[in-house]
Amino acid sequence: MKNINFDFKNKNAVVTGGASGIGFQIALDFLKAGGNVAIWDYSEQALQNAKAEFAAYASQLSFAQVDVTNRDSVNKATTTLPWAVDILVNNAGITRDKSFAKMQAEDWDAVINTNLTGLFNVTKTLLEKFNPSSQQKRIINISSVVGLYGNFGQTNYAAAKAGVIGMTKTWAKELGRKGFTSNAIAPGFILTAMTKAMPKEVLDGMASKVPVVRLGEVEDIANACLFLASDQAAYINGAVLSVDGGIVL
Ligand code: NDP
Repeated sequence: MKNINFDFKNKNAVVTGGASGIGFQIALDFLKAGGNVAIWDYSEQALQNAKAEFAAYASQLSFAQVDVTNRDSVNKATTTLPWAVDILVNNAGITRDKSFAKMQAEDWDAVINTNLTGLFNVTKTLLEKFNPSSQQKRIINISSVVGLYGNFGQTNYAAAKAGVIGMTKTWAKELGRKGFTSNAIAPGFILTAMTKAMPKEVLDGMASKVPVVRLGEVEDIANACLFLASDQAAYINGAVLSVDGGIVL
């Protein structure tokens, strides 16, 4: 997929969960556009892989092993940031899918702690680390279409992703006057390394339910993210951008 030519020279981004999947592509596209990126991720293995994959951009990068559910871990990573932040992408997320009848309190807690409280922890800690002189500060939260319309087996995930939308809109109202915009992206079903391994007939069946008759690529989400992060999106605040081929309809 062809990338849009954005320019993020002298812009500094933090991408949580940036060592794999959608976050990896977002980080890569910021790097290609000249930005500096701090990749915060839980997975040591994924961080090692990302370091190797992004070797050509070493001077623009910083890495930290961070658990977004753990405030000490977030605080520690914040103190190691080499620059003031312009863009925060809250992307780290997990699933623990089960029907509501079978869902255990641990499944609920794990998903709410990572996908909702994690965003609170990271954004709260980083708020004072944003570039004070910038009027183009950006918070971009990765929600999901499931936060808009619910889904079988995802009580925990749908609740967290709907909560992310409420948080996004509140920050849009509270922080707008301080030079921030706060927006959410609601991806549909996006192909990642894990989902690509599913049988072709399963993937084809899922694609047939999407109005544009294909599943999303990580680049689809990264393109939307870079646009919302750009100066050109300065008047978009509190929006939920569905990037889903129309499935939410
Ligand atoms: P991946 O699992 O590929 O990547 C998520 C990354 O976040 C992983 O590296 C993961 O590490 C990391 N992570 C998980 N928990 C934590 C934590 N507590 N602290 C820091 N990092 C953590 O997921 P995707 O790329 O598929 O998803 C990215 C975002 O997009 C998520 O918020 C997801 O909910 C959302 N989304 C994805 C869709 C899809 O179809 N893929 C659809 C709609 C929304 P580890 O591998 O160790 O868990």
